[in-house]
Amino acid sequence: MEFSLNDEQKMLIETVRRFIAEELKPLEDTVENQGFLDNATAQALHEKAKALGLYGMNMPIELGGGGLSHLDRILCEEQFGHTTDILIRRAFGNVYEPLLHCRGEQIERWLKPAVAGTRTCAITITESGAGSDAAGIKTHAQKTDTGWVLNGSKHFISDGEWSDFFLVSAKTGEKEISMFMVDKGLPGFTVGKDQKMMGLRGTPHLELFFDQVPLDNAALLGEVGQGFKLAMGALNVVRLAQVGARAVGKASHVCELMLQWAQERQQFNTPIGNFQMVQQMLADSVIEINAARWMVYHAAWMLDQGHDAREHIAMVKVHAAETLGRVVDRAVQVYGGMGFCKELPIERYYRDARIYRIYDGTSEIHRGVIAKSALKKGAALFDVNR
Ligand SMILES: Cc1cc2nc3c(=O)[nH]c(=O)nc-3n(C[C@H](O)[C@H](O)[C@H](O)COP(=O)(O)OP(=O)(O)OC[C@H]3O[C@@H](n4cnc5c(N)ncnc54)[C@H](O)[C@@H]3O)c2cc1C
Repeated sequence: MEFSLNDEQKMLIETVRRFIAEELKPLEDTVENQGFLDNATAQALHEKAKALGLYGMNMPIELGGGGLSHLDRILCEEQFGHTTDILIRRAFGNVYEPLLHCRGEQIERWLKPAVAGTRTCAITITESGAGSDAAGIKTHAQKTDTGWVLNGSKHFISDGEWSDFFLVSAKTGEKEISMFMVDKGLPGFTVGKDQKMMGLRGTPHLELFFDQVPLDNAALLGEVGQGFKLAMGALNVVRLAQVGARAVGKASHVCELMLQWAQERQQFNTPIGNFQMVQQMLADSVIEINAARWMVYHAAWMLDQGHDAREHIAMVKVHAAETLGRVVDRAVQVYGGMGFCKELPIERYYRDARIYRIYDGTSEIHRGVIAKSALKKGAALFDVNR
């Protein structure tokens, strides 16, 4: 067993950390106050990150990506948790793994532009009537002589405004789900309203409507009927990287601020960090962040070893998201009134943290998965030597 980072990993973390501190942190308040990131700034960020080789780091080197292992990727994702969602999207991209199933002309049309960041994409599974029950979607695609016709709708689609195309899950049979790459601007494809959220200011979450949208044969990603597997495979990695690792990063960032405040803020002529009840909040946060971090690293290591990490990622999704929730809640408490006041970013972190327990599978759904699996597999789920 080896628990230390090698020199390349330390350098990678340092590079990402510096980029976030110098390029992204200064933009956080602007995004929060105006509610969006303007296109010129977004483009400049993208170009700077790309020049440093920091765009599409999860994609293979042969395609122009960073070629990072799962573990190295989540080391970066942990740093991403230190700043705002939309800034991360623009600087480092969100290139979804199912695109690696592109074949033939699809490679030039969708895969390579996505890795290069010249075309961005969003993943669209959720519908107003199908959230946790992702297989219960109503959007459907009908085969025609020239391709497919798509009908239906999606909602809550993150970053839908900036995206040039969408990975859309659609029924192609009674119980069969396939995945399609759908370009914005196709006839019958309309983008609805931005559904305003409690947090994640600056990231739009859109409704999408498909009314007789014509798709050519090349729009089908992977095989007919493979869509659910592709979607769940993509979400598995997203849960580990964009929820698990980012939650640990965000909790770490908030915890650092909390420790600083506990040392600086004086009441009764002494720093509040001297009060045992405050110390308990600090200690519990440090303990829980460490536990969540090692779970994230372990699940990433499992993926790198080619193991099936689904249950471990479900555990990460629950534990890291809930750890973040507890840490930001304590931070508000330790900061007192200033934790609730918009003059400091703590209240923003509190709002931004809440979604981690909901998207990419709620805590309840993942607990259900873990419990079912534990009942079936027993100790193999928590004993490394079984
Ligand atoms: C900010 C944001 C961004 C998002 N981005 C995207 C995106 O980019 N693409 C995309 O496709 N989707 C996206 N989503 C959708 C997100 O993944 C869903 O909101 C999530 O999966 C939950 O579905 P739901 O909201 O329909 O809740 P519901 O499924 O209606 O759940 C409501 C409640 O019932 C509980 N529940 C449901 N079923 C069970 C069960 N079997 N056992 C126990 N409890 C249960 C849930 O845990 C929850 O507490 C986003 C959502 C938000 C809010």
